[in-house]
Amino acid sequence: MTNTLSFQVSPKVAANDFLLKKSIAESLSVPLAEVHEYRIVKRSIDARSRNIKMNLTVLVAYGDDSQLPEEQLHYEKRDVSLRPEVHIVGAGPAGLFAALRLIELNFKPIILEQGKDVSERKKDIARLNQNEGCNPLSNYCFGEGGAGTFSDGKLYTRSKKKGDNRRVFELFVIHGAHQSILVDAHPHVGSDKLPDIIANMRRTIIECGGEIHFNKQVVDFEFSGNKIKKLICPDEIIPVQTVILAMGHSARPLYYALHNAGVELEAKASAMGVRVEHPQEMINHIQYHGNVMKELPAASYSLVHQVDGRGVYSFCMCPGGIIVPSMTAECQTVVNGMSNSRRNSPFANSGMIVELQVSDYVDFAKYGELAGLKFQENFESLAYQNGGQNQVAPAQRISDFVRNKISSSLSATSYLPGLITSPMHFWMPTAISKRLQEGLKFFDRQMHGFASSEGKIVGVESRSSSPVRIPRNPETLAHIRIENLFPCGEGAGYAGGIVSSAIDGMNCAEMIAKLTAFSA
Ligand SMILES: Cc1cc2nc3c(=O)[nH]c(=O)nc-3n(C[C@H](O)[C@H](O)[C@H](O)COP(=O)(O)OP(=O)(O)OC[C@H]3O[C@@H](n4cnc5c(N)ncnc54)[C@H](O)[C@@H]3O)c2cc1C
Repeated sequence: MTNTLSFQVSPKVAANDFLLKKSIAESLSVPLAEVHEYRIVKRSIDARSRNIKMNLTVLVAYGDDSQLPEEQLHYEKRDVSLRPEVHIVGAGPAGLFAALRLIELNFKPIILEQGKDVSERKKDIARLNQNEGCNPLSNYCFGEGGAGTFSDGKLYTRSKKKGDNRRVFELFVIHGAHQSILVDAHPHVGSDKLPDIIANMRRTIIECGGEIHFNKQVVDFEFSGNKIKKLICPDEIIPVQTVILAMGHSARPLYYALHNAGVELEAKASAMGVRVEHPQEMINHIQYHGNVMKELPAASYSLVHQVDGRGVYSFCMCPGGIIVPSMTAECQTVVNGMSNSRRNSPFANSGMIVELQVSDYVDFAKYGELAGLKFQENFESLAYQNGGQNQVAPAQRISDFVRNKISSSLSATSYLPGLITSPMHFWMPTAISKRLQEGLKFFDRQMHGFASSEGKIVGVESRSSSPVRIPRNPETLAHIRIENLFPCGEGAGYAGGIVSSAIDGMNCAEMIAKLTAFSA
């Protein structure tokens, strides 16, 4: 017979097949030999006390000769080469998952991506890490897989309401991700695994008759009445029927192109700040209450506080990770974080960001709906001016930052282009710096040592979400006026992170199929 059991075990038991089977047999009150097979279906860590436990839910086959049903993950490949075309701008998670879903719905996706395929893109990423400058079309944000390819690959989303999270995980697994992402409470793929998975998604799309064009930058649009008619690239003009605009939130030239064409946009609340970095050993010690075991993964944290009516919070925490240069042009300094699947670097980093309302963009109010974008550009330019050459980023020990003191030296870092000490308390906008100081002092009370000299802030984390929205009709997901233009993913301001962007891509694909069926 088969049964589903939920129980707690120590990390040592959870990591050992024999001990876990024994524990399952005890829970079922059957002899060990009668437990034929088990499959973990849910796994999380409970580290609230020193007595750390793993919460497990397992499916077990035991007693007679029963076996567990095979887990079927399926993607139906079909030939869509002659089907109605949908053009997609951007091959990030939103664009790729839209394409995969369009194929299932019998449409032909044609993706236009300004960057390169993953293997060519790696060379530009290496140049960034060697402090040799930024290719504006190929970097940590742009290229095959978008910002999702060399991302950390944490697949969690706070919103479970927008769509089918499970289907996103399944499509990752079908294309090469480890099955564990289907069971872990905090699934993580890792930057070392993502490029191959993304390349497999490309192969599926092409095999089914879809198209992906790299080095194909859309620079402008042609509209007629309430319809988009053409996508304009430097080397060709492409007539279109339907467009999914999945260009990500770093595609500034396209926001300007839409604005210049009179397409309605909206200023949007956002969040900006810095990356914090600590030795991973220190974070393990704090989070595991000194009870660090080799079976436990590199520890993470999630911190939140309210200061002067705005949230200050940790974001995109990367245990055992590195800080990376994620600017998309010269003369900008922007950082983000990633980690490999094994999360084995000696550093822990996270974004530490402050919620910004549209009213915080007041100095840039004359730019109207682009005020937040201008605020963001200015923040990144300040970081560049106060950093070193090229990708060298400004940094300060947290203990100095919270006391308005210049750091005379900095602790070791994972950030390859290098750091330069800088009085970040002085030049960051006060809407950000004052709240960050208060937030960090508060977090030090929750995690003792967090604001010590061992920790540092690195500037700046400015792209946690888009400061612009391309407004959609909630009924059709199309732009509020341009009825065949579907703003999608993070750049449209309707998603944040890999999973929600992927879901938004699939939702747009489904809506296009529904509207097409309705009008036929
Ligand atoms: C280093 C790093 C780590 C991250 N870690 C995580 C994480 O662990 N978990 C998580 O959920 N999220 C993470 N993120 C964020 C995540 O990657 C994004 O939320 C997600 O990729 C957004 O998906 P998207 O498809 O909407 O846009 P994007 O991924 O930004 O993709 C947009 C694509 O459009 C292309 N494009 C832009 N303009 C044009 C144009 N004019 N013509 C043609 N193509 C164009 C771009 O080149 C890009 O490839 C990370 C991001 C970075 C940079």
